[in-house]
Amino acid sequence: MKQAGKLIVMAGPSAVGKGTLASHIVANFDGFMLSVSATTRSPREGEIDGVSYIFLTEQQFNNRAETGQMLEWATVHGKHSYGTPRGPVEEGLASGLNVILEIDVQGAFQVKESFPEALLVFVKPPSFEELRARLDKRGTESEEDKRIRLETAKTELDQAHQFDFSVINDEVARCAQEVVDLVQTT
Ligand code: 5GP
Repeated sequence: MKQAGKLIVMAGPSAVGKGTLASHIVANFDGFMLSVSATTRSPREGEIDGVSYIFLTEQQFNNRAETGQMLEWATVHGKHSYGTPRGPVEEGLASGLNVILEIDVQGAFQVKESFPEALLVFVKPPSFEELRARLDKRGTESEEDKRIRLETAKTELDQAHQFDFSVINDEVARCAQEVVDLVQTT
């Protein structure tokens, strides 16, 4: 029987570059897949339904959560719901793929409860100032939303020690290699 893949949970503050890191791993290393999350927030320009996120109404989201179709879910930044659809993750793992979840800290702890063998990786910015600069550069949030995300980031950074590993996303290729090495050696 084919050996099941590993579940890798990458969490960390908004704009730390988790998405870029996860995409880099999937594009450059064999045997990895990225879980596509569901969310109730509206698509940003350029985001594609089913690829960037599965965009759902609150009713659709709640219905899926209540019927056990979400592996974890959380309200992020006190606003919208985000969750990991269970089916594709379980299928990926069963087919031997390492599945990456790019989710928030609350979701990461929920996953650890149902999948104790999951590898929890906290992605840190090189500094808080650099995080602020990345959020400004992304330019997708209002001043108020940026303020909320930086507030959430402080709380999240305080929880990093509860993760299995922390990595610093100073340079994408280097950091991605570090995550892949962790997956292969643990
Ligand atoms: P954004 O709205 O900027 O795309 O994402 C906001 C935050 O939601 C990110 O920090 C991201 O980690 C988190 N997030 C995205 N997908 C999920 C998910 O499936 N579950 C949870 N718990 N958080 C998620």
